[in-house]
Amino acid sequence: MSIDLKQELKNKQYQNVSEYINKVLSLIEKEEINQEEAAWITVETVEGFRENVNPGFLAYRKTVTKDGQFASVEWSDNGSCFKDVNGKEYIDCLGGFGIYNVGHRNPKVVKAVTDQLKRQALHSQDLLDPLRAMLAKILGEITPGDLKYAFFTNSGTESVEAALKLAKMYSERTTFISTTRAFHGKSLGALSGTAKGMFRKPFLPLIPGFRHVPFGDIDMMKKTFEVCSSVGEDVAAVVLEPIQGEGGIILPPENYLKEVRELCDQYGSLLIFDEVQTGMGRTGKMFAAELYNVVPDIICLAKAFGGGVMPAGAVVATENVFKSWFDNPFMHTTTFGGNPLACAAAIATIGVLLEEKLPDRAAEVGEYFLQELKEAAKGQEDKVLEIRGQGLMIGIEFHEDEIGYEVSKGMFDHGILVAGTLINSKTIRIEPALTISYEEVDKVVSTFKQVLSQVKK
Ligand SMILES: *Cc1c(COP(=O)(O)O)cnc(C)c1O
Repeated sequence: MSIDLKQELKNKQYQNVSEYINKVLSLIEKEEINQEEAAWITVETVEGFRENVNPGFLAYRKTVTKDGQFASVEWSDNGSCFKDVNGKEYIDCLGGFGIYNVGHRNPKVVKAVTDQLKRQALHSQDLLDPLRAMLAKILGEITPGDLKYAFFTNSGTESVEAALKLAKMYSERTTFISTTRAFHGKSLGALSGTAKGMFRKPFLPLIPGFRHVPFGDIDMMKKTFEVCSSVGEDVAAVVLEPIQGEGGIILPPENYLKEVRELCDQYGSLLIFDEVQTGMGRTGKMFAAELYNVVPDIICLAKAFGGGVMPAGAVVATENVFKSWFDNPFMHTTTFGGNPLACAAAIATIGVLLEEKLPDRAAEVGEYFLQELKEAAKGQEDKVLEIRGQGLMIGIEFHEDEIGYEVSKGMFDHGILVAGTLINSKTIRIEPALTISYEEVDKVVSTFKQVLSQVKK
């Protein structure tokens, strides 16, 4: 092919892409879409997933395999609900696995982000950016104990990653204790702490020095500390979710976290709480650490931290620990972490949580939700093993994966999204907006009851 012809083809291709881009932008711009547009979006989305994202999702997502071919494509959200392109509304009880604590597109968070966007979106990377300082100050006030200095990230994984590096730098040790069923993210560092073999195996060996002990087993934790110490592999830190989320809403046994704290103190090790999912009011307190009266040395935040509007995360540590990064603040950095839009979102989010007393609301509504679900499951003990939770972090454990999958699929058909996928449904998780109304809770419970009674075991 001649060079001219090649160039001509390339130009034509670019022209097509430009037209496609304009069409997409015009759809984003619209307040309402019509049926024809909805159909086009659906086809493009399914095809795009198949050809350019990952066809695997089409097989796994219950939302795509309904009736063999029907596809649910999301388009808008508000409050505790979102809508698909066809305008069908869903009560969002998956909540992005705990992103939407202040609700979908909370107006105060949206306003703060838009106001900031109109003036400056990202930071120069050189001058001092004010919102970073203000958010760090606010965090110093609301986090437990003497947690004081903050490093900002874009995700939970990055928060864990930063915490691990900070602990290594502070302690000059390389051993970490993590727990079974833990989830800390999937980057190589965070994945080292994560428990699930399926996600770890292809990437072994991960970073050296990680030991997993059964979550909740204080004797095992104690023995592991002893062994590590006796073989000269002193523990840098224990990393824990105070309440395990991804693992299936596992609450710690009484006094467990306190005793872990004591062991850490005894061996000069740090305690890292991964509150990426439990933080920001989810469990009925601003942070789950407060539920158990335990102050960690480092706390990891993300998910709901950006108010369900911006991706944002943070690591907050005591001055004693964080000062390892005073001499050279460039030891660990990220370009976008703590950007002005993310900080504006986080500041407004904390404002909403405090003003509307959403942690208290999570405790009250969560208690009601839990009792109602237990009531609804009465007589179905052959299907439901246990319903447990803390605040608006609730898990329904079934005897088999398949029952959980059928229940979550059935609820989805009735306009309620809960966490439970084809590959992980033994425990379905309920983590709605902390602003969810009692009417919505009642609807979720009655739907659960109806679907559960219809599911065959
Ligand atoms: C979701 C989650 C993470 C990972 O956060 P990402 O934002 O997905 O990187 C880490 N820890 C816990 C406890 C989580 O729930």
